[in-house]
Amino acid sequence: MTTKFLKKENLGKLIDTLIGEGSIFVAPRMGARQVVYAPVSKFEEIVFDYIIPINSFKEFLFPQTETVAAFSIHKEGVDLRGVEIEPKETVIFGSRPCDAASVASLRAVFNWDFKDEFYNRREDKAVVMTVACTKADDSCFCTTVNLTPDSQKGSDILLQETSGGDYAVEAITEKGKGFMDRFNNFFEPLPTAYSPLPTVDIKPIAGVDVQKVKEWLKDTKHYENPLWQELARKCIGCGACTFACPTCHCFDIVDEGSAFEGERIKNWDACQFEFFTLHTSGHNPRDTQYKRWRNRFMCKFNFYPNKFSSRGCVGCGRCIRVCPVRLDITEVMEEISSLR
Ligand code: SF4
Ligand code: SF4
Repeated sequence: MTTKFLKKENLGKLIDTLIGEGSIFVAPRMGARQVVYAPVSKFEEIVFDYIIPINSFKEFLFPQTETVAAFSIHKEGVDLRGVEIEPKETVIFGSRPCDAASVASLRAVFNWDFKDEFYNRREDKAVVMTVACTKADDSCFCTTVNLTPDSQKGSDILLQETSGGDYAVEAITEKGKGFMDRFNNFFEPLPTAYSPLPTVDIKPIAGVDVQKVKEWLKDTKHYENPLWQELARKCIGCGACTFACPTCHCFDIVDEGSAFEGERIKNWDACQFEFFTLHTSGHNPRDTQYKRWRNRFMCKFNFYPNKFSSRGCVGCGRCIRVCPVRLDITEVMEEISSLR
């Protein structure tokens, strides 16, 4: 598809136009202490000098909490009412390629045995505008999981920063092309001379072999290997890694209200929490923290790729950055890769 040019001044006009039309414009902006993906109302709120926001943008496709039904109980019976959602168009600007790649992982799980219309409708109305990475930090490891800092996967539009602060822009999907055609007054022809900034060079972690990790995990005799207790020894079960992770998707359904009326609510949950697998009987198949951490690692590198042919981990490094005890998932990958 043809590469176009987006001047920064036209990005500001694009935001004003979209917001004027009632769309939501999500972009990297300053949060309480760190850069976050959040809705912005004007160009000036956007942070352009960032590596990766501390949250993922999954909350705009899969909200932390949402009502999925309402109920009332009366003497004639139970009245159960579904909730129809009509999401607004949501443009996610400044996505990083790893985060964009996570969209396929979310779509896979939310369309596995049941089509989750809450997720699908939001994703259908989202336009992912990814900016290729020109910087990285020690926690980034996309190339170790076979992605790149300019990967197109999951993006509708891919932008490459130029030395002048503008962008070379390419539509990746039909949705992206439609968006650029709709705003073709802002997406201009590529000038004959422009200088794209080089994408960052991230070397794959030498000691990690993702395929070997997957094979080792698949071998059921390793499930009870005492190594797990050692690898996950530091984990305190706070769940920060799961909430920050762009591909983690577990949720719980609870009824809130009185005995006679209320709402059925879907909330983010985390496999790192003790009560996540607690049965009504009192039995808990994951009754210690190492078993919960083992599940998360298994999910990323065994269950997910085997079940969905998509990534459980996109190498964003958030779980490393947010972990209060610095349990580094890549160190576990290295440890398992080194086993004979
Ligand atoms: S497991 Fe960690 S590095 Fe992988 S996608 Fe999730 S947060 Fe990112
Ligand atoms: S963030 Fe760290 S301590 Fe918290 S649950 Fe995840 S691995 Fe465990």
